[in-house]
Amino acid sequence: MVASLKVNLHCHSSLSDGALAPEALAALLARAGAQVAALTDHDTVDGLPHFQAALENLGVRHITGLELTAGDEGAVHLLAYGFDPESPALIQAMALARQAPEGGGLPVADAIARIHQAGGRAFLAHPLVLDDDLARLEARLVRYRRHGLDGIEAIYAPYTAEQIRALTEMAGRLELAVCAGCDYHGAHVPGLSDAVVEFPLDAWRAFRRGGTRPKNWTGRTSCCVSCCPRCWPSACWWARSFST
Ligand SMILES: [Zn+2]
Ligand SMILES: [Zn+2]
Repeated sequence: MVASLKVNLHCHSSLSDGALAPEALAALLARAGAQVAALTDHDTVDGLPHFQAALENLGVRHITGLELTAGDEGAVHLLAYGFDPESPALIQAMALARQAPEGGGLPVADAIARIHQAGGRAFLAHPLVLDDDLARLEARLVRYRRHGLDGIEAIYAPYTAEQIRALTEMAGRLELAVCAGCDYHGAHVPGLSDAVVEFPLDAWRAFRRGGTRPKNWTGRTSCCVSCCPRCWPSACWWARSFST
């Protein structure tokens, strides 16, 4: 048996299109046994303070989260983690996404760059929504990786074990990290109502390391495990997210 953590790094509150207020969502995740959680509302971080405070009271580790809508001939959902929620670059990106018509906000490269500017890491949400043809998806990921994408949500609760395995292997080939989430919206949304998912420990450790190198990577693998202003324009939020 592979050791794993119970997590949910992809869930929505009533501040985007979820059913529960952030506090109620935090309580639900804690009851389900979540050890780490991130609220990832669409193009808003307004729920984070309440969600974080509730999780802290419940003894669940919190990481800042966001599902940012980018555009690439259609909407591309990017999960951002471990960023400074007050970053002007990110606040502007969310505003642009909210104003954009269906199918996108900033181009993917710009959206990833702004997540990085905010000290966070960028993961592609529910990859099979973009393309369920694995070869075409991989070609697209090669492109996004050049834009600095850090990882993909290979462990997506609604996917089958076979799909999760194929996506995890793809991430490995591309040297991308993996994140794990349920896309919880509420008990009323069939398929998007799981509260937690198992995140294998080795994948969790790779997630914490941040997967790939940041844009201005210096070549040292230890870079950004501790704060490194040279790599990150903003204070090292990612490292701080995992310092406790
Ligand atoms: Zn999404
Ligand atoms: Zn979502």
